[in-house]
Amino acid sequence: MEMKELLDEYGSMTFSDDVMRERVPKSTYKAFHEALDKGEQLPKEVATVIANAMKIWAVEHGATHFTHWFTPMTGLTAEKHDAFLEPDHKGGALLEFSGKTLRKGEPDASSFPSGGLRATFEARGYTAWDVTSPAFVKDGTLYIPTLFCSYTGEALDKKTPLLRSCDALSSSSVKLLHKLGMEDVSKVYANVGAEQEYFLVADEYYQKRIDLRLTGRTLYGAMAPKGQELEDHYFGSIKRKVGAFMKDLDRELWKYGIPSKTKHNEVAPAQHEVACVFMKANITADNNHLLMQIAQDIAKKHGLRCLLHEKPFDGVNGSGKHNNWSVTTDTGVNLFNPGTDPIHNLPFLTALACTIKGIDEYADLLRMSAASAGNDHRLGANEAPPAIISIFLGEELDDLVDTIINGTALSDNTKERFQTGVAVVPDFSKDTTDRNRTSPFAFTGNKFEFRAVGSAMSVAGPNTVLNTILAEEFDQFSDLLDEGMEPYDIIKKFLSEHKRIIFNGDGYSKDWEEEAARRGLPNAKNTVDAAECLKAEKNIELYEKHGVYSKVELSSRYEIMLENYSKTIQVEALTALKMAKNEIYPAVSKYIGSLAEDAKDLAALDVPNDFMKADLKELTSLATDMRGQMATLDEKIEKAREGDAGDPKVAAYWRDEVLGAMADLRATADTLETKVDEKDWPMPNYVDLMFGI
Ligand code: ADP
Ligand code: MG
Repeated sequence: MEMKELLDEYGSMTFSDDVMRERVPKSTYKAFHEALDKGEQLPKEVATVIANAMKIWAVEHGATHFTHWFTPMTGLTAEKHDAFLEPDHKGGALLEFSGKTLRKGEPDASSFPSGGLRATFEARGYTAWDVTSPAFVKDGTLYIPTLFCSYTGEALDKKTPLLRSCDALSSSSVKLLHKLGMEDVSKVYANVGAEQEYFLVADEYYQKRIDLRLTGRTLYGAMAPKGQELEDHYFGSIKRKVGAFMKDLDRELWKYGIPSKTKHNEVAPAQHEVACVFMKANITADNNHLLMQIAQDIAKKHGLRCLLHEKPFDGVNGSGKHNNWSVTTDTGVNLFNPGTDPIHNLPFLTALACTIKGIDEYADLLRMSAASAGNDHRLGANEAPPAIISIFLGEELDDLVDTIINGTALSDNTKERFQTGVAVVPDFSKDTTDRNRTSPFAFTGNKFEFRAVGSAMSVAGPNTVLNTILAEEFDQFSDLLDEGMEPYDIIKKFLSEHKRIIFNGDGYSKDWEEEAARRGLPNAKNTVDAAECLKAEKNIELYEKHGVYSKVELSSRYEIMLENYSKTIQVEALTALKMAKNEIYPAVSKYIGSLAEDAKDLAALDVPNDFMKADLKELTSLATDMRGQMATLDEKIEKAREGDAGDPKVAAYWRDEVLGAMADLRATADTLETKVDEKDWPMPNYVDLMFGI
């Protein structure tokens, strides 16, 4: 490919800022940016002109339809397509797309989860154009990123709170930075880079596994003789078929201006990763949703399936999504960049101390933001960060924190420089932050990496938490400055009071779990427990204060989180039962029958058949167990379904009783798999799935 072609293709399917500038009058472009900078509503005339330009551009790029693309609380994206075409009175048609249509849409909201909001408020919802995220054309449709709210203004989506948290972070940061002498700052942004893990399996095998098709993970499957023990897959050479998929994926992502940068094989067989260059939080959240969709589409074109589930296979690692987060000013200062002389870098130390305090005080929220039925299989197992939130700083920053807390090595000169504020110094060696892979929240040079997020999740939730807690701690810092405290003393106070959240050791160890309990750190082991923090008074206060969620919005999130959890387990349980009843059990019975025939034949010939009898005994005993376990699972599902999915007691029943019954049934079925002739097993096995490409 020509270099020019590659460059021209980049972002060619997005209605980018450059495209807008080329296609609308200067005055419109200016008015658009003024509204954007001030965070104001776009004037109607401006929207009309932009809508028209957008329509012409979209049609030129193959669009016949448009859609308001939004992120309901299911965590997925939603879209409804409308044609530009409208009949005129003369038997012909026009291409219609007004400023009003661009700015606001009215999907039927009644079928999206609202967690009680619908009962309290007007049922209908509307979508509103998110001017900060560019529209794009995909498969003949113009996609307009939008917020999704109720008529009374309650957020019914994931994007609205994220944008609110970005605003809160910006205003609290600007206020504080002005006090610290950085008066030229007028806006502050959260940057996010997401690293996406996924599995690829052959489509022909995928089609034969209803568990993969309906739930995204295998509900049965004896471990393959080979897993990840040889550590030969991580960064290993990429198979031709996988390479072709990755190449296509990159090109497609680039067309949408999604800066895919790094790709490699991951730890588990058939597991891979794609990482994109960081952008503003809201853009990365949208881009990552789009990436997940595109990856699935492209995989199909290659005769593959892209599995985004957190735990497609037992016995090997699951998939996560590292969320790299930093905070920068519009003057180009990254507040998490320590520079060469961190001890004199006031903005850095301030941001560091505030982050440490925030994570300690709101560890429960951060943990909750990474909770889902799928991710419950990872967090706390020895492959992903523990469910206990702690911060890894690395040796050098750890020393720095100790120095500040102990007040050693800080000369008067240092204190003075603190009071006057310091210019930011570049580059603190990245290598000094050695990578502790067992930490859920690690400092990595000039950013924090939150590693607990699940591969299938939206990054909107975690970043909403991070932005809001930092905004809160910045405000508290500001307040103490106003009370006359010195910046250095505030930093020292914050660090001294919250150093318990810092942990540089092995996050997988049992010792840490005990130590963390002694330190009083929360350890919510699953989604049902993690959700509880949405009802905590301190968290409601935090969110209300910063205008990120209202109390009712939070209680709706709580309900939806549990509802999603219960329903996910319900689908899994019903699928597991169906597979057991209609596929595995019949196959086992048939195999036992044929073995019995063979045993009879041997007996008729008066040949010893004791070995067969022994096998038959073992198999029939397992089949009997299985029969009982199917009945138990069936009963438990029925009982669980009597309750309300959003009720914490019901969710706990799904978790404790139903998941337990599924596990028992699976253990028997998996044992049977190892004893039955492979030709008679009714579905592709783990060898096929993990090594079948
Ligand atoms: P890793 O070793 O974890 O793969 P990388 O340096 O390759 O780390 O970066 C991983 C992700 O972090 C990428 O998405 C990258 O764009 C993002 N990233 C790098 N710097 C920043 C930053 N300052 N803020 C937010 N994300 C960043
Ligand atoms: Mg990483």
